[in-house]
Amino acid sequence: MENILSQRVLNMAESATLKMTQKSRELKAQGVDVISLSIGEPDFNTPESAKQAGIDAIKNNDTHYPPVPGTPALRKAIAEKLRRDNGLDYQDTDIIVSNGAKQAITNTFLAIIDKGDEVIIPSPYWVSYPEMVKLADGTPVFINTTMEQNFKITAAQLEAAITPKTKAFIFSTPCNPSGSVYTREELASLVEVFKKHPQIIIISDEIYEFIQYEHKHESMGQFTELKERLVIVNGVAKGYAMTGWRIGYIAAPKAIVSACNKIQGQYTSGICTIAQAASLEAMQLCPENSDEIKTMLKAFRNRRDLLFGLLKEIPGVKINMPAGAFYMFPEVKSYYGKTDGKTVIKNSEDLSMYLLFDAHVATVSGGAFGCDDCIRLSYATSEDKLREAMRRIKESLAKLK
Ligand code: GLU
Repeated sequence: MENILSQRVLNMAESATLKMTQKSRELKAQGVDVISLSIGEPDFNTPESAKQAGIDAIKNNDTHYPPVPGTPALRKAIAEKLRRDNGLDYQDTDIIVSNGAKQAITNTFLAIIDKGDEVIIPSPYWVSYPEMVKLADGTPVFINTTMEQNFKITAAQLEAAITPKTKAFIFSTPCNPSGSVYTREELASLVEVFKKHPQIIIISDEIYEFIQYEHKHESMGQFTELKERLVIVNGVAKGYAMTGWRIGYIAAPKAIVSACNKIQGQYTSGICTIAQAASLEAMQLCPENSDEIKTMLKAFRNRRDLLFGLLKEIPGVKINMPAGAFYMFPEVKSYYGKTDGKTVIKNSEDLSMYLLFDAHVATVSGGAFGCDDCIRLSYATSEDKLREAMRRIKESLAKLK
């Protein structure tokens, strides 16, 4: 049958992070010793207290339909977390719980975007933002950044990207894929621009909040003058090593929360009760009071320092030191145009594939994040694996002439 699929899905790119992860799983299943630096997920276990809460929820038959926006207890705990960790003033009714930060962001776009509305996205960006905007019939507008500016936009760049059609702005700090973190002053300079354009809704993805190496997290929420048009995105996946539980949320103006509630009520309903119970327990933890989180952060810092040193030793690779998340985003374009005798490496996708099949190391092409000069490496894996991965990458790159 022809034309079975909609233009909507035909126009959509496949998620590059998930595609590479699937490819490396397939190779592993064939017996190939693949080291995966592709997907961004902590290699630590969910905190014991959260796991126990999930088990208790099952035993206590907490297995019926949950309220669509999340259980009252979890929404309250999230409001409390925003007060404790970020000094922000939100009520439980300002919060909606979704199936991961991914659904939370998609709901938000569906709630605010009309056909042709523009959404500004600093590049490099997380792979799914533009596709989510397109799904909502919006138009992504990119602001390019360079390694020299630590992949962070300036107020002047933001101002220049705004048009009468701009409806929203989305970014992540700490940033996936660059690991860059905006300082308070840098955020404040962007806020000055937003103040001149009151029609723009700001979506601040803060999912890597806990994973920072220089400073404590600076939330966009501290700029209370934006509160009526600010959507804070977060979840339990990264900070609490709970990727598989699929719990994300937004804290946002009531109109947006209630629109997301309406959308979610029609197509997914409330989120798994067991995952919500586990997340409620996780919310009691933060880097200040949890040894499990502290151990994880210490390991990420050591791995960052190790990987930075190893990457710097590879000829033709340029790298900056990220201040957060668990990604490195090295520039590798000096290898484009070179060949191993069989294939010519034309771009980051080719290089990423070459490294997968020659070095058996899975990375993600920078092109998928809007920056074809680079590739993304996730260092959420052991130091031994990182050392071995870098040895292999160095060897494979040296074959390119
Ligand atoms: N956010 C993670 C990453 O960038 C998880 C994969 C995904 O959902 O894209 O690798």
